[in-house]
Amino acid sequence: MSAPEIRKKLEVMRERLVRDLIDQGILKSEHVIRAFRRVPREEFVMPMMRLYAYYDTPLQTMHDQTISAPHMCAMMCELLELKPGMKVLEVGTGSGYHAALCAEAVAPSDAPKESWGKVISIEIVPELVRYAIENLTRTGYIDRVEVVYGDGGEGYPPEAPYDAILVTAAAPRIPPPLIEQLRPGGKLVIPVRGRFFGEQILYLVEKLPDGRVKKTPVTYVAFVEMRGKYAEGTA
Ligand code: SAH
Repeated sequence: MSAPEIRKKLEVMRERLVRDLIDQGILKSEHVIRAFRRVPREEFVMPMMRLYAYYDTPLQTMHDQTISAPHMCAMMCELLELKPGMKVLEVGTGSGYHAALCAEAVAPSDAPKESWGKVISIEIVPELVRYAIENLTRTGYIDRVEVVYGDGGEGYPPEAPYDAILVTAAAPRIPPPLIEQLRPGGKLVIPVRGRFFGEQILYLVEKLPDGRVKKTPVTYVAFVEMRGKYAEGTA
């Protein structure tokens, strides 16, 4: 197959995946659907994995880390109710794919830049910071995503408060700085490890307008472990 044929095939597969996720009731809102139609997942996976980019499964990236399955990215974006203009914090940049999806949802490529929101994404592995920056630059999202090297368990105070926070590595508990850096009315999604069996549960955490915090378990998930200050044994 020639390069243009491969590109065409990937576009067809991308559209088929989007339709499947809509049929399954996972993709719902116009902004998240647009993001899935526009962001090329094949640019965020290892070259030999390109033809698998639109299988709804996690894929291996560098340093034993994985890029989450599309349905998991979709579910998290929908729980956060991403819309243009929002400021989003991601903990765990990895390949940069999920950050690009969030960026397209809060800062649509064809909308005026004055209306754009932005994404700050923190990554603890320096090589992955570089890898994500390369991928986001090649796909044109680096103007809406700031990749920061550091321990995302501490959040990123210089840009707080955030309308939405997503954590893509599992922690034994919800790092308190993340709740502090959420704007009242804002939402956080995070996989939290159960105390007895090591199972992971995705939580939706809402900071209500009066400052109270509401935590709702959503589903079982399988993410890589969070490192840093809030990793196992240090929390
Ligand atoms: N969102 C990514 C997938 C993330 S995999 C994507 O779309 O590809 C989880 C990532 O979290 C890994 O890259 C891992 O290095 C990172 N990570 C783990 N603990 C972290 C921490 N405390 N702060 C920031 N990043 C962390």
